[in-house]
Amino acid sequence: MHKKIAVKLWLSSVTVACLFPLLSLQATERPKLILQVTVDQLRGDMPAAYLEKMGKGGFKYLLNEGVVYKDAHHNHANTETIVGHATLATGALPAVHGMIGNVWFDDKLQRLVYNVEDSNYPLLSADAGVNQKTEIDPTQRTAKSSGRSPINIQVSTFSDELMIATNGQAKVFGVSVKDRGAISMAGHTGKAFWFSKKSGEFVTSRYYYDEYPQWVSDWNAAKPTKKYHQKAWQLSQKQENYVFAKQDDQPWETKLPGFGTTFPHQYGDMENPYFTTFLTLSPAGDELTLDFAKAVVNNEQLGQDTVTDYLSVSFSSTDYVGHIFGPSSLEAEENMLKLDRTLANLFKFIDKKVGLENTLIVLSADHGAAEVPAYLSTLGMKTEPVAPKTWDQAPGMQVLKKQFGIDRALIKSYFHPYIYLDKELIARRKLSLEQVQKAVSIEVSKFDGVALAVTSADIEQGNIPNDYLHTLVGNNHSNNRSGDIYVVLEAHRFVADMEGLSVASTHGSPWGYDTFVPLIFAGFNLDDEVIYDRVSTTDIAVTLSAVLGIKAPSGAQGKVLKKVLDD
Ligand SMILES: [Zn+2]
Repeated sequence: MHKKIAVKLWLSSVTVACLFPLLSLQATERPKLILQVTVDQLRGDMPAAYLEKMGKGGFKYLLNEGVVYKDAHHNHANTETIVGHATLATGALPAVHGMIGNVWFDDKLQRLVYNVEDSNYPLLSADAGVNQKTEIDPTQRTAKSSGRSPINIQVSTFSDELMIATNGQAKVFGVSVKDRGAISMAGHTGKAFWFSKKSGEFVTSRYYYDEYPQWVSDWNAAKPTKKYHQKAWQLSQKQENYVFAKQDDQPWETKLPGFGTTFPHQYGDMENPYFTTFLTLSPAGDELTLDFAKAVVNNEQLGQDTVTDYLSVSFSSTDYVGHIFGPSSLEAEENMLKLDRTLANLFKFIDKKVGLENTLIVLSADHGAAEVPAYLSTLGMKTEPVAPKTWDQAPGMQVLKKQFGIDRALIKSYFHPYIYLDKELIARRKLSLEQVQKAVSIEVSKFDGVALAVTSADIEQGNIPNDYLHTLVGNNHSNNRSGDIYVVLEAHRFVADMEGLSVASTHGSPWGYDTFVPLIFAGFNLDDEVIYDRVSTTDIAVTLSAVLGIKAPSGAQGKVLKKVLDD
């Protein structure tokens, strides 16, 4: 009841204490810790999908005791990891925060760049960068340096605003298996740690530290991945209990030699170069993230004083499991049960250390997930992946090339969702970029599987209708980073080829299954409530700011979710 008053009193509690001595105690009612949990690829329906098989303290705690928004969506078209994380962190749309894709083409460097790469800030560990041979994430492989920083995020994050409001007294940390999952949430002023598949350690860059805190070195020296050596990912319940009990080996599951498509999935020898990759493709990746997050809380003493601290934990396993096996698979089902235990473990730990009544938890996701087209086809919904490899050679494109006097590829690269044209060639031929964009977009929109092809020129000149798809494409547009043409594929279709690795499923569309995410606030003595109104992921950072009575991040466009403050 008193929280609203308490919030207003925070920054001026001394003055207020003199004027209203009885009220001054309430100033301590602000949370000691904001715990922002992001589950990569956790679609909005997933937390409740297997609830009857889950234990206490995880999703059941969140859903039964939290403020649960049942219809939360991202409002941008390119539903990828960094785009979603940056939106959760900043309350801004990608058009404003600038993180419009996991990669984009940098005109100055004349190459695709990875969203958080920054050669000015090398990793603190030697030989912990991306292993080009074993890395299965193609976006990671585009980075030309192992250096990382949040510099490409063009506005402040909630965590930055907390740091500013407390004159740097708040402790702000972001932890994830993925660099982009940690860096985005820690913002420009916090500290980020992520998992190096190459070294099997949690690492950071010179942007954050000159050298590792001693406890991080000690934690890594204890070889955290050792406990999985020659172990396997096993089912935690009797196989007949699972919805997908009889479908462990579906034909579209990605075949990774050594890891297999059926339980138990072997992690193998820790000397195997794919050992750490296998850990990230299973609940082990989340368990390691949890262990490191606990070490942050213990060693940095989060939530122990009167200044509110911030911890972001982004769990990546659900995403990898979804890509490799599909969201409707025995593996994905088992992963949810394990994720539930990991969350229960985290909340129990936070309760002991800080107290859940002193901790405001918010859980959401960077994006949802598409079902595997072949799986949908087995249910009678006939659909298939899209194959864009031959687009540049299509007859219509040949006609265009002749018309424009171009004797090589007109589509220089298509890194979904953007098509990049050969701007240099177009300039040399003295062609109008706008006209070439338009002509190519008309041809591309005829290709199998394409729902919409929108040119940058049309977006920048405001020549797009304000319907659902165009609005989300426009929300994703950055004048200096977006490609020439934004391609929206038809619903339930996607490009299943991740640069040579054929995956079961992916995300990255503006369709409902990709924009739909859970949004749950819990802890901090909130009264449970279920809300069915449609809300936006841009509302989260704004709401957290309102709870603390601080200003919202610089590009934030969301609204305050009042139920979180009303209790
Ligand atoms: Zn993904």
